[in-house]
Amino acid sequence: MMNEREAVSALIDCGRQLYVNGWLPATSGNLSLRLDDGRLAITVSGCCKGQLDHHAIMFLNSSGRALDDRRPSAETALHVQIYQCFSTVGVVLHTHSLAMTLLSEVFSNEWLISGLEILKAFPGINSHEETVRVAVFDNDQNIKRLTTTIAADLLMLEIPGYLLRGHGLYVWGSDMVAAQRQLEAFEYLGRYELARRGMTLI
Ligand SMILES: [Zn+2]
Repeated sequence: MMNEREAVSALIDCGRQLYVNGWLPATSGNLSLRLDDGRLAITVSGCCKGQLDHHAIMFLNSSGRALDDRRPSAETALHVQIYQCFSTVGVVLHTHSLAMTLLSEVFSNEWLISGLEILKAFPGINSHEETVRVAVFDNDQNIKRLTTTIAADLLMLEIPGYLLRGHGLYVWGSDMVAAQRQLEAFEYLGRYELARRGMTLI
């Protein structure tokens, strides 16, 4: 939770970091934050996330309506859905990493993870012995229909994130630190799972 200036700065820093990691290639993905007053700050589409400036961040009301004359990316609706579903969420990160995209095509509709200490990076997971289910949804260019599909499962997710097939990852947290920690955990788990299956990333 933060003010407008802090939000812009946090999104610029986050974009730079995630871009360098290769998780936001070719202008893909989007990053958002909820301000103290309930407005949302989100990256505009079509810009390199490694070189964001304040022009590349736009503000929306809590329903996702733009507060200037720019049109937000279609994927904004998925960010808004997460904020509306979870009142404690302060940050949503959507990435297109190679590991997450490959993994999204390995599983049909769920990815089960167990036995890994890094699971404790997620809230409410206190032991590596727990088995965690991550939902994998089919991608859909009709975002309204996609939000309806996701809505049926969103409250039942065991950790704060899901995969879109052939597309990427959505992950969220109470603040930027939590959201980035969980994103890093997802990426670690993804690379682990691919390596375990003999699918090594370059
Ligand atoms: Zn995307």
